[in-house]
Amino acid sequence: MKISWHSHSCFELEESMDILIDPYIEKNPVARARVSDFNPDIIAVTHAHADHLGNAGEIARRTGCLVIAIAEVARYLTGLGARAEGMNIGGSLLVGEGVFHMTPALHSSGVTELDPAMYGGLAAGYVIDDGIRVYHAGDTGLFSDMKLIGELYRPEVAMLPIGGRYTMGPREAAIATSWIRPHVAIPMHYNTNSSVIQDPTEFQNLVETLCDTEVLIMDIGESVEY
Ligand code: ZN
Repeated sequence: MKISWHSHSCFELEESMDILIDPYIEKNPVARARVSDFNPDIIAVTHAHADHLGNAGEIARRTGCLVIAIAEVARYLTGLGARAEGMNIGGSLLVGEGVFHMTPALHSSGVTELDPAMYGGLAAGYVIDDGIRVYHAGDTGLFSDMKLIGELYRPEVAMLPIGGRYTMGPREAAIATSWIRPHVAIPMHYNTNSSVIQDPTEFQNLVETLCDTEVLIMDIGESVEY
């Protein structure tokens, strides 16, 4: 599987399909890609906040790709003219050769690009199984059911927020890693703007003291094969 990081929580997974997660591109001060660069088969949105929903509607309308989101966000995207499928926490959706499991996330949700913000259901994460099992935690605080996510889906790769303030910081994310026990953990949701400044090596060093997981610190725009 080719895994690319486009900064913040935006990842692209390419195996049997091109899956784009949380495409916060245009208003993202550190993203290097442009919205027009993306031609995914699927977009998975973890929650409705503008730094996650991002350009999902625009990319979906241009390409005709499918968007997966929690029911309330899927309905909003359908209203924007996107082809969207809703699901909910604890559920699974089979798309092509891939399976999307929607996991809980301890966070709020709401369409913050609208004023007032529209109810966006609950924030979520995904375990995506497209040959390799990848857990993208979305925005979340630490919660003990991450142990269950590890036990139930056995993700090989985990993407975890470390920015602090809105999500887990390095210490909480290191504990999450030790509970989930993936082969590889990739930090996300940091150094996008001044409110989420973190040193990812702090996360890396803490994980080393807790478990055997390898921490992979990616550069913006970098791709790795897993
Ligand atoms: Zn959020």
